[in-house]
Amino acid sequence: MNIHEYQAKALFEKFGVPAPKGAAAKSAAEFDAALASLPEGATMVKSQIHAGGRGKGTFTNGFKGGVKFCPTKAEAKEKAAAMLGNTLVTVQTGPAGRKVQTVYFTAASDIKKEYYLAILLDRVTSRPVIVASTEGGVEIEKVAHDSPEKIHKVIVDPAFGLADFQVRELIFALGLTGAEAKNAAKLIRNLYTMFWETDAAMVEVNPLITTPTGEVLALDAKVSFDDNALFRHPELVALRDLNEEDPKEIEAAKASLSYIALDGNIACLVNGAGLAMSTMDIIKYFGGSPANFLDVGGGASKEQVVAAFKIILGDPNVKGIFVNIFGGIMDCNVIALGIVEAVKEVGLKLPLVVRLEGNNVVAGKATLAQSGLALVNGDTMADAAQKIVKLVA
Ligand code: GDP
Ligand code: MG
Repeated sequence: MNIHEYQAKALFEKFGVPAPKGAAAKSAAEFDAALASLPEGATMVKSQIHAGGRGKGTFTNGFKGGVKFCPTKAEAKEKAAAMLGNTLVTVQTGPAGRKVQTVYFTAASDIKKEYYLAILLDRVTSRPVIVASTEGGVEIEKVAHDSPEKIHKVIVDPAFGLADFQVRELIFALGLTGAEAKNAAKLIRNLYTMFWETDAAMVEVNPLITTPTGEVLALDAKVSFDDNALFRHPELVALRDLNEEDPKEIEAAKASLSYIALDGNIACLVNGAGLAMSTMDIIKYFGGSPANFLDVGGGASKEQVVAAFKIILGDPNVKGIFVNIFGGIMDCNVIALGIVEAVKEVGLKLPLVVRLEGNNVVAGKATLAQSGLALVNGDTMADAAQKIVKLVA
């Protein structure tokens, strides 16, 4: 789960990670109150969307920049009005962009130098890794590609926590000394504590800055949490912004289904992640392209199958449906009853190919046959895949 910058900065404050003072506004009526809480003078206006690259982004109405430096609060108010409610396109949003529903005002900082700092989970070592670079403010992927030697990594043993020598190693890599070194060390330790205690998957500060007066501040914040640990953090779940998520994925999550949107036109209703992978492979193999995969899991109920079908049929990109079920624990007849029920409720104008195999398959096939539904039976997975590819072609 991702959160917005302004929410991440509130967590930073709680954990003692210094950041510029800020205030968020969700409507123009809130601009004055938000600005009144900040010091006079130069102010930043920052579009709040779950994507980076905002500074270099462009709004679909032509307005340039999702992050703006404004010399005065009056100008900040003007720029905020231009952003709020409009759609911002950045390198990370895709061409459709994202509608800005919240703006964040911050007291503008004087930047001496920009750095990069992030903590994430390293899947190779299964440990938290702290990534630091003197090349901040720019795309870190570009730095990693062009000058990998400028990216410094420290792997933390979770049993011991972040050691002092590791913090010194990072400070040294960033070339910081004196007051800057002291302030950065404290910031890094507190950021690690936050990462650990919130079960974060990633905490990225790009840029981390030094100021002419020796301060070290987190100027940007991108934070995401491990979904599997959210049950331990109701206060973090409350930060979830459903506006930033695919409505179909929200519907799927409500029905305890795993739904992944893809860009093809064949919807795949399967049980189990492994079968989902091979279903997508076989569709590709026969020249088709999957629109999504929807995994109903091992023991789905009829209601879940109905929910799954509704999600699939609600996607305008879907031109055909491939139900590929191998009933190990799953009862094939439950799937069949779910399909019949769903079609009764929402209708079916698209080709549907069903391949059922395994537990209670005879009853499942009988249910489908008796329903009178215009579906195509697949004898094997390969046969079914070829049929659906042909039907949507
Ligand atoms: P992003 O473009 O989505 O990564 O948004 P950032 O919050 O990182 O802002 C983009 C850029 O705006 C930063 O890399 C900075 O160069 C600049 N910026 C952000 N906040 C300030 C500020 O307080 N003062 C100044 N001078 N520049 C800022
Ligand atoms: Mg940034």
